[in-house]
Amino acid sequence: MNIYVLLKKTFDTEEKIIINDGQIEDDSAEFIINPYDEYAVEEAINQRDEHGGEVTVVTIGDEDSDKQLRTALAMGADKAVLIDTEDDLEDGDQYTTTKILEAFFQDREVDLILAGNVAIDEASGQVGPRLAECLGINYVTTITDLKIDGDTANIDKDVEGDVEKIETSLPLLVTCQQGLNEPRYPSLPGIMKAKKKPMEDLEIDDLDLEEEDVEPKTKTVEIFLPAEKEAGKILEGEVEDQVKELVSLLKNEAKVL
Ligand SMILES: Cc1cc2nc3c(=O)[nH]c(=O)nc-3n(C[C@H](O)[C@H](O)[C@H](O)COP(=O)(O)OP(=O)(O)OC[C@H]3O[C@@H](n4cnc5c(N)ncnc54)[C@H](O)[C@@H]3O)c2cc1C
Repeated sequence: MNIYVLLKKTFDTEEKIIINDGQIEDDSAEFIINPYDEYAVEEAINQRDEHGGEVTVVTIGDEDSDKQLRTALAMGADKAVLIDTEDDLEDGDQYTTTKILEAFFQDREVDLILAGNVAIDEASGQVGPRLAECLGINYVTTITDLKIDGDTANIDKDVEGDVEKIETSLPLLVTCQQGLNEPRYPSLPGIMKAKKKPMEDLEIDDLDLEEEDVEPKTKTVEIFLPAEKEAGKILEGEVEDQVKELVSLLKNEAKVL
C-alpha cells in the first residue's frame, strides 16, 4: 500500500508563547509534531506492518521542519518529503497548504492518506478534507479505528463521544482523533536508522507552482493571547443572601443583567 502522512510542525502550546507585534516569536517557541499527526504516523506504520507497502511523511514548512520528519522516520516511517516554502512564500493559509499538497499528489499513486484531525496551533481542521476534495477521493474525519480489507475500509468515527460506523473504499483520506492508538516513542535503533532513511527536499518550483497559484485567500487581522482570568469569587452566608449578592454582582460588576 502507498501510505502517506501529512505532518505539521507546530509550536508546543504547553510552553510559554510570546507574541510580539501581532506575531508569535518563533525563537522562543518549542516546536513539536502536531500531536494528532503522531496518531497518524503510528496508524500508518501499523497499517503498513499489516498490509505491506511504504509510509511517506510529508510536511510543508521551513528547513528546520526536518527535525519533526526525522522523528517520524525514527518512529518507523520509510521516507520523508520536506516542501520548503520559506524562500518562495511570505504568507500562507489553509488554501495555500492544500494547493501545494494537491500538486504534490498529482502524479502519485495513493491508497491511504492520514492527517491529523486538527493542528493545535491554528486549529481549522480544514487541510485534510480540502485535500481529499481536490484529489476527488473519499474521506472520513476524526477516526478512532481503521480496519482495511482489500479495497474496503471499516472505520469508527468519533462524533462528540458517540461512534459512527462507516464502510468506505480506498483510495481514502482519514483524519486521526485521540484514542485511535498510542503513538510510540522513537527507539535508539530507530533514531540511528532514521539518519539513513531518504528525505526528499522540494520547493514549489518543483511542483510546477507559481507564487500566484497559492496566494492565501484569508488574511490574519490580529493574533493575541487570551485575557488573564481573574480569580473567582466564592459567595458565603445564607442561600437567600448569596442569590441577592449574585444578582447584584451580575448587574453592577459584570454588567450582564
Ligand atoms: C507558505 C506558508 C506560509 C505560512 N505563513 C504563515 C504565517 O505567516 N503565519 C501563520 O500563522 N501561519 C502561516 N502558515 C500556516 C497556515 O496558515 C496554516 O497553519 C496551515 O494552512 C494549516 O492550517 P491549520 O493550522 O488550520 O491546520 P488544520 O487544517 O487544522 O490541520 C489538520 C491537519 O492537516 C495537516 N497539515 C496542516 N498543515 C500542514 C502542513 N503545513 N504540512 C503538512 N500537513 C499539514 C496535518 O495533518 C494536520 O494535522 C503558512 C503556511 C504556508 C504553507
